[in-house]
Amino acid sequence: MKYTPAFPKFKKPPHKDPLQTLDEYFSKFIRLRDSDGLGFCLCITCGRRFFWKAMDCGHFITRDRKAVRFDERNCHSQCTECNDYKKGEQFKHGQAIDRLYGKGTAKLLENLGAMRGTKLTTEWYEHHIKLYREKVKTLLKEKCLCQQ
Ligand SMILES: [Zn+2]
Repeated sequence: MKYTPAFPKFKKPPHKDPLQTLDEYFSKFIRLRDSDGLGFCLCITCGRRFFWKAMDCGHFITRDRKAVRFDERNCHSQCTECNDYKKGEQFKHGQAIDRLYGKGTAKLLENLGAMRGTKLTTEWYEHHIKLYREKVKTLLKEKCLCQQ
């Protein structure tokens, strides 16, 4: 006779793509990094202030350029209006990057982004998923935002 469990097993969610998983942790990290002690961030391009969860992780060089997709200098908290409707406000984002990290950084990121053929290995993803998961945990604790 076939054994029928009292409670049917829940199907495991489909295995997530490591790129997607890393994107999630990296995005959280960027927004938490850019937030103040209350969890509010300023938009890198318009300066408006929102709670970190309402912000986007805006990329200066678009996400399809793997060489800078997870470069912390390339990404900042950005409001959805600037990120979506204003297509990222790339020029302003570049100016802000130069102010933050020194003149020429935006150009450097542009050059890095133009490099083709970046292959990220499974090990690379595993390492970075672990790294950013920990960084997010630490920031949430430091800013006392775990319950929100
Ligand atoms: Zn904005």
